[in-house]
Amino acid sequence: MKAAIYETYQGSITIQNVEDPIPKEHGVVISVKATGLCRSDWHGWMGHDTDIELPNVPGHEFAGTIEAIGKNVKNFQIGDRVTVPFVCGCGSCRQCLSGNHQVCDRQSQPGFTHWGSFAEYVALDYADINLVKLPEEINYITAALLGCRFITSYRAIANQGKVSGGQYVAIHGCGGVGLSAIMIAHALGAQVIAIDINGETLDFAKELGAIATINARGNTNIVEQIKTISHGGVHVSIDALGSPNTCYNSIANLRKRGKHIQVGLMTGNHKNPKVPMDLILANELEVIGSHGMQAYKYPEMLEMIKNGKLHPEKLIDKTISLKESTDALPNMGNFDHKGVWVIDSF
Ligand SMILES: [Zn+2]
Ligand SMILES: [Zn+2]
Repeated sequence: MKAAIYETYQGSITIQNVEDPIPKEHGVVISVKATGLCRSDWHGWMGHDTDIELPNVPGHEFAGTIEAIGKNVKNFQIGDRVTVPFVCGCGSCRQCLSGNHQVCDRQSQPGFTHWGSFAEYVALDYADINLVKLPEEINYITAALLGCRFITSYRAIANQGKVSGGQYVAIHGCGGVGLSAIMIAHALGAQVIAIDINGETLDFAKELGAIATINARGNTNIVEQIKTISHGGVHVSIDALGSPNTCYNSIANLRKRGKHIQVGLMTGNHKNPKVPMDLILANELEVIGSHGMQAYKYPEMLEMIKNGKLHPEKLIDKTISLKESTDALPNMGNFDHKGVWVIDSF
């Protein structure tokens, strides 16, 4: 098969011909039809992820059809249209048995713990637990957007934040995660305030339903502005970027008993950001993480896509080829485009 491979961190990515993967007894091999470019892949290529063994094939949000299947897989067959969450569970650890596959103790993540989906084929373990059947109404390119940023935002807003109609929600950082979160919170009836450093991105945030936007570039008054708009602070706030500033502001702009949800990755020397613990105590704030979403939780989200409440396809900025991804991935550190890029030719 053809695959995009890097052999050193921050080194060149090349298209190589490598052996096709073979499914394990409980696994499948998927013929990849579409796969998204995510900043987590860029973090991996930068050398920020200790799970990666070189050489590596990136890619962890994708959709396709089952090409080969292990003998112990019961619920799927060859030809099924499927997608997966980026965190795949083992099905038998304490976390999985409690229904929390998204924090599985033995989790696998394509593109990180094994070769990912920037390739014609990708192997997945424990297929019965991790695969999600795609409704006919949802095409591969749209489905490829779901597996990482969209499900993480969905879980952050709907399950972790329990956002309800009328609440104020702040979204700090409007990349793929932030834009997804704006769309989902708006669909649930929340009043969304979007914060970013890019004016064009903020215009797009408004199109997706934000009631107000704040340009953070050179702005030292962000928390106060959010508190004014939300009449005293937001109910739920999300750091969708993952930086010390956005994390701090996302906690500091909460109203009493509000919830901060960390979705943006904190890596390298951002691992231990400054946190306003005085406010957390005095105002009984909650600080919560959101890390993917279990495969069995997909149906309610897929239903909202099918019935037109959510439009993940609006987040697509561009589709590119596997070859073009070899330049596009290293450039993801630059934040120079709004929306998501998807590889749809291999
Ligand atoms: Zn597990
Ligand atoms: Zn991702």
